[in-house]
Amino acid sequence: MKLKYTKPFGTNDICGADVFAWQYVENKIRELCADFGITEIRTPMFEDTELFVRGVGETSDIVTKEMFSFTDPGGRNYTLRPEGTVNAARAYLENGLFNAPQPYKLFYIAPNFRAERPQKGRYRQFHQFGVEYFGAESPYADAEVIFIFHEILRRVGVKNTALKINSLGGAACRQKYNEILKGFIGENLERLCPTCRERFEKNPLRVLDCKNEQCKNIIKNATAAVDCLGTECAAHFSAVKSALDSLGVSYEVDPAIVRGLDYYTRTVFEFHSTDLGAQSALGGGGRYDGLIEECGGSPTGSVGFGVGIERLLIVLNEQGAPLPRPQNPSVCFAYSGEDAKILAFSFANTLRKNGVYAEFDCCERSMKAQFKLSDKLNADFTAIIGGDEIANGYVTVKNMKSGGQERLPLNGFAENFQKYLHKLVD
Ligand code: AMP
Repeated sequence: MKLKYTKPFGTNDICGADVFAWQYVENKIRELCADFGITEIRTPMFEDTELFVRGVGETSDIVTKEMFSFTDPGGRNYTLRPEGTVNAARAYLENGLFNAPQPYKLFYIAPNFRAERPQKGRYRQFHQFGVEYFGAESPYADAEVIFIFHEILRRVGVKNTALKINSLGGAACRQKYNEILKGFIGENLERLCPTCRERFEKNPLRVLDCKNEQCKNIIKNATAAVDCLGTECAAHFSAVKSALDSLGVSYEVDPAIVRGLDYYTRTVFEFHSTDLGAQSALGGGGRYDGLIEECGGSPTGSVGFGVGIERLLIVLNEQGAPLPRPQNPSVCFAYSGEDAKILAFSFANTLRKNGVYAEFDCCERSMKAQFKLSDKLNADFTAIIGGDEIANGYVTVKNMKSGGQERLPLNGFAENFQKYLHKLVD
């Protein structure tokens, strides 16, 4: 078949068995967030372009080359959400969530949109589970947020992960470090790749996460941000590490973790999978103490993270994790003749009303084909209603696992079948 329409470049349909895996992960996320008292937030799929430009940062990859922006018929400039923190910050302020007990802890499971070159684990529409703690300055908030990330990986069953943490320091430390870094990069500029040379001008910190081997070799000799922290930022980072130690969460301090977004201050972190190739980051986050102010609020210490759900599922599948499969029917009806069809239709729907998964063949196949379908759907039982059954007032119930058969009275079959099921369980 030649398709007339196909999905947009870099997007995915989530259907078939995949849906069960998605629901499995989403359910685990909801359970986890309930345990931490984190409430869900649902914000619009698009926001004022200006919000992302100011919040994420003018020199970031997202803003310079990845935003899906458009003008609405009223001439307003909007952008499809490329990430979840900035719009959550906007909603925190707009809905007066700072009046609730702080920190205001929220989570979202939402699609993001970035015009990137698609490859495995990198799409133009992808989904993130994100957590944000607004109004929390304590290093325990950083550690708790990291622990939530650690916990979702454990609860969904992802193995072989590595946590990398770093501290960029607060605004003053960041500025001081930028100067130190600029000095180092300036001395080595000729040997760095064109992207690094460009970043040197606009955002020197980003040179630290260049993936080019030659650049990495040069940059590893640069002074690390953690070695330039002021007293308070150093104490904060040290307290985050102690809190992680107390929870038994292991980590590595990695000076190359800088995150690509401008709003981060102090703690930054990423969880990587040692089983993923080029796109090994499962997600990351950090503290962003200046963002709420940038959005027009008062200074509000905040910390959060975003995990890519597609990447989580890629790893789970590659690790052969036991993901839930489609549910199989308790009973499939196999009928022949008009009277039997009407009865099967009514019995199936009575059973469904009572919470029993029953299948009635809406395609009106032959009885033989209905048997095949029951087999294919892996039903526990097939309820056969043919000419003999109608004439003699019974339904043949075939146990599809054992092959054994029983006769149950046709009159009130739905109730009879439920009692039969209960007896089997007892
Ligand atoms: P970032 O904010 O760019 O660090 O993204 C956080 C996480 O979201 C990444 O580690 C990925 O798991 C996921 N992610 C980011 N961009 C994409 C993308 N284009 N396609 C799929 N997942 C993505």
